[in-house]
Amino acid sequence: MRDIGVDVNTPQGEWDGDENCPFHGSLRLRGQIIEGTVYSNNMSGSIVVQREMTRYMKKYERYEKRTRRYPAHLPSCIGELSPGDKVRIMECRPLSKTVKFCVIDTEASQ
Ligand SMILES: [Zn+2]
Repeated sequence: MRDIGVDVNTPQGEWDGDENCPFHGSLRLRGQIIEGTVYSNNMSGSIVVQREMTRYMKKYERYEKRTRRYPAHLPSCIGELSPGDKVRIMECRPLSKTVKFCVIDTEASQ
């Protein structure tokens, strides 16, 4: 198994031969790491991760909640994920029109 250069839990699942796996295949990761929760898992091989950011708005003296969603590739060795699971995703090359992140870690395996 390859070292992806980030401190993560070693995925416990089976590798299905997917080259787009940072641990078993040839997918290289670089760029941002985002922590979020699984928003949807109804696509095969990928999920949507949602991140919430709270920002203080000086002008209105209150907090503003912003959410952003990131479609991310889910390597088979990470295993099944359900909405609400905490995950970390990392930027990679675009794998499809919308997917340019890959799941690297889940809370379940910690
Ligand atoms: Zn893998």
